[in-house]
Amino acid sequence: MTVAQPDLHHDRQFPDIQAASRGLYIDGGWVSSQSGKTIEVIDPSTEAILAAVPDATIEDAAAAVESAARAAVSWRETAPRKRSEILRRCFELMIERAEMLATLISMENGKALRDARGEVAYAAEFFRWNAEEAVRITGEYGVAPSGSNRIIVDYQPIGICLLITPWNFPAAMATRKIAPALAAGCPVILKPASETPLTAYALASIYEEAGVPPGVVNVLTTSNPGPVTAAILADPRVRKLSFTGSTGVGRTLLAEAAKHVISCSMELGGNAPFIVFDDADLEAALDGAMIAKMRNAGEACTAANRIYVQSGIHDAFAEGLTRRMAALNVGAGTDALTECGPMITRKAVEKIGRLVDDAKTRGAKVLCGGELSKDPGFFYPPTVLSDVPADADMAHEEIFGPVAPISRFQSEEEAIELANNTEYGLAAYVYTRDLARGLRVSSKIEAGMIALNRGLVSDPAAPFGGVKQSGLGREGGQHHGIAEFMEAKYIATSF
Ligand code: NAD
Repeated sequence: MTVAQPDLHHDRQFPDIQAASRGLYIDGGWVSSQSGKTIEVIDPSTEAILAAVPDATIEDAAAAVESAARAAVSWRETAPRKRSEILRRCFELMIERAEMLATLISMENGKALRDARGEVAYAAEFFRWNAEEAVRITGEYGVAPSGSNRIIVDYQPIGICLLITPWNFPAAMATRKIAPALAAGCPVILKPASETPLTAYALASIYEEAGVPPGVVNVLTTSNPGPVTAAILADPRVRKLSFTGSTGVGRTLLAEAAKHVISCSMELGGNAPFIVFDDADLEAALDGAMIAKMRNAGEACTAANRIYVQSGIHDAFAEGLTRRMAALNVGAGTDALTECGPMITRKAVEKIGRLVDDAKTRGAKVLCGGELSKDPGFFYPPTVLSDVPADADMAHEEIFGPVAPISRFQSEEEAIELANNTEYGLAAYVYTRDLARGLRVSSKIEAGMIALNRGLVSDPAAPFGGVKQSGLGREGGQHHGIAEFMEAKYIATSF
């Protein structure tokens, strides 16, 4: 008996790289850049060129703003139910094409397929969640304390939004912004990261098929993000900037937006502490640490960046984590057996190497990994360090890679002090069987999100965001995500 071999080129689940790199997506069409130049997209597993996407200019950006402006009035006046149904269709199409999207994410970002599948499910959920929220946007009504008038508060779409996203979650960081913006009635211009543009363009085709009208979503890639996004922000019709990326670039963009008094939402860098108390369930803490550290091979803003373990459980935890980290399969993201894919660029690998060398110089011990491979691809091996001192660079900078630095602590007060000894405040993880202690510590840690006896915190139904240098505003959650794309209008009236 002969078994038919699948023809990948006719398999709808195989990504169509050519279609995903055919042009900028402006006004519901695919157009070339006015520069005629392109940006190469590199496969981090092999260092081969995957595709080339257009390199947008300031003129292309102006065309995107024009297109969004033309679409703005009819989109804000589209009935919430209709907007909701279009968003729901985006969710359904993403789920239908989940395997194709996951493969594309693995190819351009390098993350393991299992992580990419998780990302697609998470990214699609923002459309389902916001389809449900789109029909539940309400206002307020009250009597003024003086009794002389009524107070009506109406929530209106803020206007054209510029969305800028990083490479580490090419689908989810885009849908976490696009879905609530569309639900609120705003048109958007998305500027995805140049390292991972193909997913953003593949998703644009899905939005089009789902019925998103021309001009409501525009996508452009550029190698010149500063001037191109500054030109977009300078157009008075643009009223919102929603950015996810590093704190440094976030500061630059806040300054740019300040010139035009533009509303900003900022999802910035993290430096999450992962605290394990003596009374923790050891196996649960190890499971949680592997998720918090190794989702996306450590390339996550919520990644456990500093692991603090109380003395009584320290050695057992360090031994268990080393065993698990050393057993991980490292390989190309698209290989089904891979558990830890490559980093995004050579520069990222070099940064991790620098942080590990610095920690070693300051007395940290290498329990596994720590050595660079000479093979092609931007790989860094899963690494565990112990006795990492508080003055090591990696205690203050995002590692953004598969390196787990363990430090010992004695008391609850010391753990809280260590956790808060950072300019960041995005996520934190706490493991203890004592719920009162867990809640007490959670309330004292300066972070926007705490995972208590869990290794995963992200959920489209919960408000995601940070404090301190980790950002401004929230994404997802009941009302929070959509509220970032709306403005309150107060009407005073009496009768
Ligand atoms: P990055 O700040 O280098 O880039 C983010 C985006 O900004 C990219 O699209 C990039 O092209 C663009 N950009 C760069 N310079 C710009 C400029 N001058 N003007 C306008 N746009 C510019 O970040 P990255 O390396 O892509 O992503 C990693 C960072 O993102 C990490 O710090 C991580 O913690 C953070 N992150 C945060 C969250 C969150 O929700 N808080 C989520 C994911 C990633």
